[in-house]
Amino acid sequence: MKLEDYIRDIPDFPKEGILFKDITPLLADANAFRLAITKLANEIDDCTATKIIGIESRGFVFGAALALELGYGFAPIRKKGKLPYDTVSYEYALEYGTDHVEMHVDAVEPGESVLVIDDLLATGGTVAAATHLIESVGGHVEAVAVLIELAFLGGRKKLGSHRFHTVLSYD
Ligand code: AMP
Repeated sequence: MKLEDYIRDIPDFPKEGILFKDITPLLADANAFRLAITKLANEIDDCTATKIIGIESRGFVFGAALALELGYGFAPIRKKGKLPYDTVSYEYALEYGTDHVEMHVDAVEPGESVLVIDDLLATGGTVAAATHLIESVGGHVEAVAVLIELAFLGGRKKLGSHRFHTVLSYD
């Protein structure tokens, strides 16, 4: 089974020039979804973190499944205004304008080691913002892992010295 066969390319979504990697066929197939989680888990099986931080929204799907697989806790990073309790926020630059990510103030303890999970690394801005947010409350990002890396966009560079793992990489 090749995971690539379960990822559907959608040209010009959500805007012209973007080739969107649609992971819903992978999620819809129990064996493909299981294989994706097993492969992600294998990438990070030497980690000593205790929690997975999943990034809205497809990072929740992979992050929560991985948390159960590895016996970790889970906490979400969401877009601004979505979390109900007190939050910390990090603003980051987009191609045009800015965006915010938020996390509950008590999602990560000072000194706690966590793993950051998302479905896909493109320019790296979202994951880099997540690492800044976690570090702003004293957390330690042991590794960042995604299912898909769009390597031609060079997003890894935004992660600095953080350990990075991907299951699939597109050049
Ligand atoms: P970036 O901040 O540029 O690394 O973008 C990563 C976030 O945007 C991830 O949460 C992805 O789900 C989403 N994303 C960006 N580009 C794509 C793409 N080509 N296909 C699917 N999702 C994408």
